[in-house]
Amino acid sequence: MRIFNFSAGPAVLPTAVLEQVRDELLDWHGAGMGIMEMSHRGKDFSGVIHEAEADLRALMGIPSNYRVLFLQGGATQQFAQIPMNLLDGRSADYVVTGAWSKKAYKEAQHVGNVRLAGSTEGDGFSRLPVAHELKLDPQAAYLHVCTNETIHGVEMFDLPEVPVGVPLVADMSSHILSRPMDVSRYGLIYAGAQKNIGPAGLVLVIVREDLLGKASTITPSVMNYTTMADNGSMLNTPPTFGIYLAGLIFKNLKAQGGLAAVEEANVAKAKRVYDTIDGSGGFYRNPVAVECRSRMNVPFTLSDPALDAAFLAEAAERKLVGLKGHKSVGGMRASIYNAMSLEGVEALVALMQDFAARKA
Ligand SMILES: *Cc1c(COP(=O)(O)O)cnc(C)c1O
Repeated sequence: MRIFNFSAGPAVLPTAVLEQVRDELLDWHGAGMGIMEMSHRGKDFSGVIHEAEADLRALMGIPSNYRVLFLQGGATQQFAQIPMNLLDGRSADYVVTGAWSKKAYKEAQHVGNVRLAGSTEGDGFSRLPVAHELKLDPQAAYLHVCTNETIHGVEMFDLPEVPVGVPLVADMSSHILSRPMDVSRYGLIYAGAQKNIGPAGLVLVIVREDLLGKASTITPSVMNYTTMADNGSMLNTPPTFGIYLAGLIFKNLKAQGGLAAVEEANVAKAKRVYDTIDGSGGFYRNPVAVECRSRMNVPFTLSDPALDAAFLAEAAERKLVGLKGHKSVGGMRASIYNAMSLEGVEALVALMQDFAARKA
């Protein structure tokens, strides 16, 4: 029996997709072998990766002057890979709005010259900076943001006003494909797969073509966007199984009606959880400013942390798992990614209301 998995990542995947993977595991489309066992250079896998890219392009409306790369090393490797490829001997700006953008900023300092353009750490990462708080360099090689902070539960619905000619680089790991995004506003988008896309080990990079060809000379070729783009993400063996599974997820999202339909479902799910928190008379609290509360990751605390263990135990009894908050913020976190059903969210809401009614 499947349980309701609220883990922040690796995270829940759609049951129908996993059933298809199971059915095709030993024999993919009559090939007599599974995807994992196939040459990445063969006709069958070429079809898989090309279809995955085409479906992703259709889903996100990716313009033709952007390249789609299927890479390895996770989003964390991108923290270094981005400055290696884009700094071009200049300086880049970072906006720090939570644990992940802070890590990206720190890692980039190993590679080159980066500036802190703004931070909300002083407010416990409970809001986004307003325009006048950002000190943006009009000459920056790029401006880096994290559009959904997975640990602090802060989501960017309005992008900062980027100086003309400065490409915006966004870590979308934990909310990519959760709603329509205007790809043309970004120079580069990246996302680790294990939240909304598929299995860990795959990272997606969507990069505007004019940003290629600027990598520093020490950049290893597997980390160089240009050589990876020139080789169709297959300079070396790509994460074939992850790409196959991601492709099935893209088809599943298309079948749901695309990202506008996915967004509608996500808005409804998030509203149920936040309404429950806000309607609890202070028993549950979410510290994030209302206009930037994440639809994907909902951190919340109980009025008395001594009740945390009992809450988690009752959750486990009801087959709700993965709710313990990140160790840096404590409390709880409900990650309600695309693949979390409304049924799962209703089960969580029922627990929260029932628990509060007994313990408040
Ligand atoms: C999970 C996550 C990462 C790190 O991903 P890894 O694959 O573990 O490197 C980076 N950024 C964000 C926003 C994340 O949610």
